[in-house]
Amino acid sequence: VAIANCKRCGRIYNRVRRDICPACIEEEDKIFVKVRNFLREHKNAYMDDVIEGTGVDMETLIQMIQDGRVILSNNPNMGYACERCGGITRSGRFCAKCTTELARTLAGASAEMKKKTLEQQQRRGGYYSR
Ligand SMILES: [Zn+2]
Ligand SMILES: [Zn+2]
Repeated sequence: VAIANCKRCGRIYNRVRRDICPACIEEEDKIFVKVRNFLREHKNAYMDDVIEGTGVDMETLIQMIQDGRVILSNNPNMGYACERCGGITRSGRFCAKCTTELARTLAGASAEMKKKTLEQQQRRGGYYSR
C-alpha cells in the first residue's frame, strides 16, 4: 500500500487504486448519482444548470463525461470545449471533427511523439546525472 495525497482534498491516505481518497470517492459517487438523476429529469439542461442543481464543479463534471460515466446522448444542450479547437464536444476530450482529424494524423503524430519522448528522456537523463 502506498501513501499518497488525495488529488481532490489533499488529505494523506493509503492509495488503493484511485488518485483520490475513499472519502472523496464516496463523495464523488454521491455527486455522480445526483448528476445522472438531474440529467434524466432535465433533458434540456445546460452545463451551468447541472452545476447549480447538483453542486458538482465544472472540472468534475467534465471528468465524468470524459470517463464515460455520464452519457449526454439525451441532453442536447450539454457540452464543453474541445481541448484542441475550443469547439463544443459532448464526449471525450475532443469534438467529432478533431477526433476524425486526429485519427487521420495519428500515425504521423505517434512517430512524432516517440521522437519527443525520446528527446525528453535524454534531457531528463542529463538533468538527473548532474
Ligand atoms: Zn480526498
Ligand atoms: Zn475540436
